[in-house]
Amino acid sequence: MIQLIRGFKDILPAEVALWQHIERTAVALFAAFGFDEIRVPIMEKTELFARGIGEDTDIVEKEMYTLEDRGGERLTLRPEATASIVRAYIQHKLYADDPLRKLYTIGPMFRRERPQKGRYRQFYQIDVEAFGMAGPYIDAQMIHMLHLFFQRLGVSRSLAHLNSLGCPVCRPRFREALSGLLAQVEEKLCADCRRRQARNPLRVLDCKVPTCREAVADAPAIVDYLCDDCRQHFNSVTESLARLGVPFELNKRLVRGLDYYTRTTFEIQTDLLGAQSAVAGGGRYDGLVETLGGPATPAIGFAVGFDRLVEILGQRLKVEAPKPALFIAALGEKARREAFYWCAALAAAGIYVEMEHGDKSLKAQMKRADRLGAARVLIVGEAELASGKANLRDMATKAQSEIALDGVAEKLEQTLKP
Ligand code: AMP
Repeated sequence: MIQLIRGFKDILPAEVALWQHIERTAVALFAAFGFDEIRVPIMEKTELFARGIGEDTDIVEKEMYTLEDRGGERLTLRPEATASIVRAYIQHKLYADDPLRKLYTIGPMFRRERPQKGRYRQFYQIDVEAFGMAGPYIDAQMIHMLHLFFQRLGVSRSLAHLNSLGCPVCRPRFREALSGLLAQVEEKLCADCRRRQARNPLRVLDCKVPTCREAVADAPAIVDYLCDDCRQHFNSVTESLARLGVPFELNKRLVRGLDYYTRTTFEIQTDLLGAQSAVAGGGRYDGLVETLGGPATPAIGFAVGFDRLVEILGQRLKVEAPKPALFIAALGEKARREAFYWCAALAAAGIYVEMEHGDKSLKAQMKRADRLGAARVLIVGEAELASGKANLRDMATKAQSEIALDGVAEKLEQTLKP
């Protein structure tokens, strides 16, 4: 038997109700904050991610699913959505009428990471981006929105970790100070960090290898090196968050180690997930639109790990699958034929009705109606068809009422309308 690909997974019908609930919650909340949905392809030219995410990141170095298509073009299954959305923003000149754009997309991402609990090779993200706003309010607004999103879903034990990465004016001073420390502890760093240390020392702060974490425990904090503009920006963000009642804590290790990331970076962490504690992450990237060939445009975005959210909520939130308003227990071929057309008419009217398709006893059919949680059962056999009347049973109260079969679909539609 052919199995699915390692690190990939099926989302089975029993789980889908929860996925849909999360999606509906996101869509309603994002709409209230003025975000529009955009849908971008899951495959792009490899170059977009190489330039958009950065050559010396884990993702681009070793995690991308890249292939050469039959025309010899190098294509990659998207490992994240930001680069694609920025490409679309530039390509369709979404800035032409108004550079301010708030966008979101929900869909699968692909990274060839080592599969483990909470980490997949195809996983889903809810990705949100805002273009054209340089001031601190949009930063606070996005983190606030994210906080509300988790609250609405009932994830109370979540905390926003916050840092600022400064800008091309102040970051070089911090890099220099950090490089000084890294040179002293070089032999304690993992091979990746040793290699990256010269080109991108900030990445070392982000490394999850315990010896690296230990080696940089006393590293300077970038917030102590911010220029006046960056400090003011960061202070406004934290002030706004405090006033909005969003719980946060400063985390000097939180870096998005790419050169164009600027100023505010954040991650939402929860202790409900064990080792994979980050359920969302994001930050400002004021340089990326220009790097990818667009007009200089400040921007900020975040991505929520959908699978991890499902994992958290699966333990605490039961989203009920829809239950039929009616089950038609039909006995005999003639009754089944009639029932089939009644079901069709009721489904067309938006009412969920089930029936038995095989030749089953009344007892078996009642059992199935019960298992499905049907609110009512209509029992129809040869005798009912002959008399033109049948019994409609309320499954909760067990009360029975008689219903005439002439025009029964219309009558049931009236009775069962939610
Ligand atoms: P990133 O794009 O790496 O900042 O990730 C944003 C969020 O996506 C993370 O906080 C995770 O919740 C989720 N995520 C990232 N990689 C994976 C993965 N391989 N499997 C499941 N979720 C992931």
